[in-house]
Amino acid sequence: MSRWNTERPSCCSIEAVFRKILIANRGEIALRIHRACREMGIGTVAIHSTADEDAMHVRLADESVCIGPPDARRSYLNIPSILAACDLTGAEAVHPGYGFLSENAEFAEIVEEHGLVFIGPKAEHIRTMGDKVGGRKAAEAGGLQCVPGTADALTDMDEAREFAGRVGYPVLVKASAGGGGRGMKIALDEEDLEAKLPVARAEAAASFRDSTVYLEKFLEHPRHIEVQILADANGRVLHLGERDCSLQRRHQKVLEECPSPVLDSAARESVGAAAASAARDIGYLGAGTMEFLFERGQFYFIEMNTRVQVEHPITEEVFGVDIVREQIRIAAGAGLEARQEDIVPRGHAIECRINAEDPETFVPSPGRIDQYHAPGGPGVRIDSAVYQGYTVPPYYDSLIGKLIVRGRDRGECLSRLERALEEIVISGIRTTVPLFQEIVRWAPFVRGEYDNRSLESWLRSRSMDV
Ligand code: ADP
Repeated sequence: MSRWNTERPSCCSIEAVFRKILIANRGEIALRIHRACREMGIGTVAIHSTADEDAMHVRLADESVCIGPPDARRSYLNIPSILAACDLTGAEAVHPGYGFLSENAEFAEIVEEHGLVFIGPKAEHIRTMGDKVGGRKAAEAGGLQCVPGTADALTDMDEAREFAGRVGYPVLVKASAGGGGRGMKIALDEEDLEAKLPVARAEAAASFRDSTVYLEKFLEHPRHIEVQILADANGRVLHLGERDCSLQRRHQKVLEECPSPVLDSAARESVGAAAASAARDIGYLGAGTMEFLFERGQFYFIEMNTRVQVEHPITEEVFGVDIVREQIRIAAGAGLEARQEDIVPRGHAIECRINAEDPETFVPSPGRIDQYHAPGGPGVRIDSAVYQGYTVPPYYDSLIGKLIVRGRDRGECLSRLERALEEIVISGIRTTVPLFQEIVRWAPFVRGEYDNRSLESWLRSRSMDV
């Protein structure tokens, strides 16, 4: 594979910036981080629960430490155990991946207080952006336009009624601390709003230990478009194009593509430059993603994710930049070497999130993988930690792998995707592969004409449970 060598901008010279990194995660992202470390000559420490003793990242890492039982609260979220694993192994830095502790500002602080490096942004940025109300304020101060919404946390029904009356129904009641598609309720009219507001507050308190909610205008047919940012300690910020993540179910991403089929280069440049400028304004450090809703030619900021995203590989494929490697270099104090002019898209990439779930009911399907065959050939990349004989544990997220396909243009990418989806074999458990085999032939997707609600409407029309 000579692609990285020929197409990677000059930002990624190989140097051992840390001796040893502890990977505070599991599954495909733990393996992804291990791979970046290996290529950089950095030693790796895997941590794992007792349910993950046979995990691929544990097998491949230089060292591994069992940090607790299957329940994530007592293992992957157990900060004292993770710090003890750092002490035990002499790891100098911690990469949190996504999910688990990746957006926990306190964890970032504690890691640094222990004289270790947290591979991610500063705790203050994790804190500000982890709270959607604070994130909106910071984005607005940085010149971005947000979805019309209440500026502060909602305190009473009168305020909610006044806002909804002004912008028009439907409105969305959002938990400020929400995430992963949870903590959102659509209110269709005033009566609905009166009923849902207290429920949303109570649910937010129970789920996120923060009852703060606010209102946003509910956009009926937007697309989800997000911009990848890399920022170094010298204040240099690069934007690496956009990802279109409009194919969603229950506000969660199912398939992503880069570039978006609906943006022209002027729109791409303008949203990229605006996102980079906002990141520069707040003094952001590391990799981050600014998420926008795009409707009728207008971008509306919704939130910033202060970590590596599940869908980062499509950006890597199109721009030839290794985002995890850049995160590590930036955390070690290295400056970005590429200039914005070097960041040029080449071709098109699509990612399918393969979940261990029934493709019709979406009920999780953990268990033993009897047969596994990964597709290959030109333009195909699999980011997965599963293997034949591996047992998918029932305790964690159902994502078991990502199929990432790249082509010279969208047409070639779609043909390759269809071909790769024919080759893949995962048996013994149910997976969402059959769903993608249908999506790749679904006319609105093939034409690129879909929005955030299209997939759900289609699934519903086929009487699937969404
Ligand atoms: P989370 O942090 O849970 O991922 P986001 O704020 O990023 O929540 O939104 C996730 C998805 O929810 C969006 O991609 C979009 O489909 C939907 N969504 C969020 N805000 C709005 C809105 N104001 N109008 C319409 N859809 C929205």
